[in-house]
Amino acid sequence: MPPGPRIVSVLLPQPLPEPFDYELPEGMNAPPGSFVVVPLGPREMIGVVWAERSVPSNRKLKAVAEVIAPAPPMPPAMRTFIERAAKYVCAPAGNLLAMSMRSREALEEPPVELLVIASGETPERMTPAREKVLAEAGAPLSSADLARAAGVSSGVVKALLDAGALMQVERSLDPPFEEPDPERPARDLTEEQKAAADVLKAHVSERAYKAALLDGVTGSGKTEVYFEAIAQALRDDPEAQVLVLLPEIALTQAVTSRFEERFGVVPAEWHSAAGSKARRRVWREVAAGRARIVVGARSALFLPYRNLRLIIVDEEHDASYKQEEGVIYHARDLAVMRAHIESCAIVLASATPSLETLANASSGKYTHLRLSARPGVSRLPEIALADLREQPPETGRWIAPQLAKAIEETLAAKEQALLFLNRRGYAPLVLCRACGERLKAPDTDSWLTEHRYSGMLICHLTGFTMQKPLACPHCGAKGSLTGVSPGVERLAEEVHTRFKGARVEVLSSDTVTSPDSLRELIARMEGGAIDILIGTQIVAKGHNFPALTLVGVVDADAGLRGGDLRAGERTFQLLLQVAGRAGRADKPGRAIIQTYAPESPAISLLAAGDRDAFIEHEMEQRRQVGFPPFGRLGAVILAAGSSEQANEWAAAFGSAAPNAAGVEVWGPAPAPIAVLRGRHRRRFLVRSDRNVDLSAYLSAWKERVKLPPSVRVALDVEPYSFM
Ligand SMILES: [Zn+2]
Repeated sequence: MPPGPRIVSVLLPQPLPEPFDYELPEGMNAPPGSFVVVPLGPREMIGVVWAERSVPSNRKLKAVAEVIAPAPPMPPAMRTFIERAAKYVCAPAGNLLAMSMRSREALEEPPVELLVIASGETPERMTPAREKVLAEAGAPLSSADLARAAGVSSGVVKALLDAGALMQVERSLDPPFEEPDPERPARDLTEEQKAAADVLKAHVSERAYKAALLDGVTGSGKTEVYFEAIAQALRDDPEAQVLVLLPEIALTQAVTSRFEERFGVVPAEWHSAAGSKARRRVWREVAAGRARIVVGARSALFLPYRNLRLIIVDEEHDASYKQEEGVIYHARDLAVMRAHIESCAIVLASATPSLETLANASSGKYTHLRLSARPGVSRLPEIALADLREQPPETGRWIAPQLAKAIEETLAAKEQALLFLNRRGYAPLVLCRACGERLKAPDTDSWLTEHRYSGMLICHLTGFTMQKPLACPHCGAKGSLTGVSPGVERLAEEVHTRFKGARVEVLSSDTVTSPDSLRELIARMEGGAIDILIGTQIVAKGHNFPALTLVGVVDADAGLRGGDLRAGERTFQLLLQVAGRAGRADKPGRAIIQTYAPESPAISLLAAGDRDAFIEHEMEQRRQVGFPPFGRLGAVILAAGSSEQANEWAAAFGSAAPNAAGVEVWGPAPAPIAVLRGRHRRRFLVRSDRNVDLSAYLSAWKERVKLPPSVRVALDVEPYSFM
């Protein structure tokens, strides 16, 4: 019997759960992992060969059109990761493949530029102009640059090329990254830091899955410690690759220079703000195994590493690791999954670890490494509460007397103050004094924020923007619209009037819109050109200012309102991080926290400096209701075009919920933001015991209901947002 046609299944970067089968033409070689071009309907598309089929199909299959030869095949571990991650986050595998193919251009040969250089031959006819050109042509230059350098017309260069005295050379526009050097001198480590670094280095050298929590107070030198683990990975294996995940681009910029100091080269950077050229280069160099250290935001987890030996998740508790749009996933959880699949070491670092991670550390799944001291003489700041019920700020002001006095003392001592208020803009709510109307974004259940610098009203959820109207859109009253409660811009206004002569700047995503402007602002703060810095949560992270001795938290209760699962935990983490900005080097710091709820556990235990007691309290609360880390949580959000349609299908969806032991379903209820961009939203919350495969449960549930195309369902495993 003649052998049948060879068949491969190809996964496409589309919302498709399964690969499609294609025939492999005679003579074409495409082992699993190969990037191939295949027809899909009338189009052609790039996909990845997922498997070879041994059983021939009895259908007539379309043929693979082309194998993309320059692209190294996707490694098996990467394919396994895509499959498992898709199952875990309840998304089609094709969507995760799309996330790992963010640069299609990277699959092609790198583009080159043509340069010219002297060939060593002497032209038959020599002129003064030609002599000048050849004198400049010792190193490769573009024709235009060479002509400019020699001060001649481009015709002279061309004539020398034709005469053979110059020759063309190609240079890649995507040069490889320089090799990091692990043997450069490290900063001196304390005994405690050295002990932690030794454990991590041993983990790396085992070349097996090993997870550690690096749990160190702000300023304790976690970065220096994990740098030693990175150095060990590079030392052990000349082809080792290391991934360092950071929660925000702003932080990536701040950390890059420390990498350069330690390893002599800047690492490859991967984040959403990078241009397509930069992405093409990083993707290709990672796939080729030549980019050794990659520093990036959560999506860097989906790059096709050839030989990943270590993953660092810095600020592992940070909520921005959770992607809420498109494929909903938590980068920390998937990083642990990836480390498992790659059999490599992973380090989760934080000054305020998440409860999930602490639970894994105390059960022994993760090695728990603590850094309790700040190197040198610096101390953690003293934290004092300002009870606003006893000493409220004056009407129309937000800084209470206790904090105002501390700011004055700080200014008198020529030191710096940081005021933290996690609300952008001027006022988070705009109200009509005539009719009481609160201005909302159209089609969305969320208040508009007044931005006075730009004169706009903005919805921070959808990005909707409008000029602030002169008259109330509801009752028509003129000049009646007024901003309620403060954002950072309004706080800056108060600071300007109360602390005359102080140099004040605002740090928020509205005032700092590029990495360069952030760098400049940080340099001004470090250089002492700012007396009072006012900031949103951007200021909570990463930056260390030696002369900053006072941190004032203007509204500590903001995060406690709304009451989602992690409200207390997040408030505690955020305030501890912010307070930790105060006091470095030899100057002690203090933090003053303004609150109406001094007795709430998050705030009272923060003031007492008792992190362990707070964690115990939170753990107990969660244990009682079986919430993470003691159980699993999932969310189902159903969105429809009208309220009636949302109710109708939510009821149908609810009645189709499978019965399963250890699973409870709550809802449907209107989602806290019940209307978003014109879509009416209903929410189910699902709690399960830890031993239940909640992902499989949610996927099976969704399969049971055939919804009309106008109704959409999003599944969220371990939800962070309760909107
Ligand atoms: Zn009105």
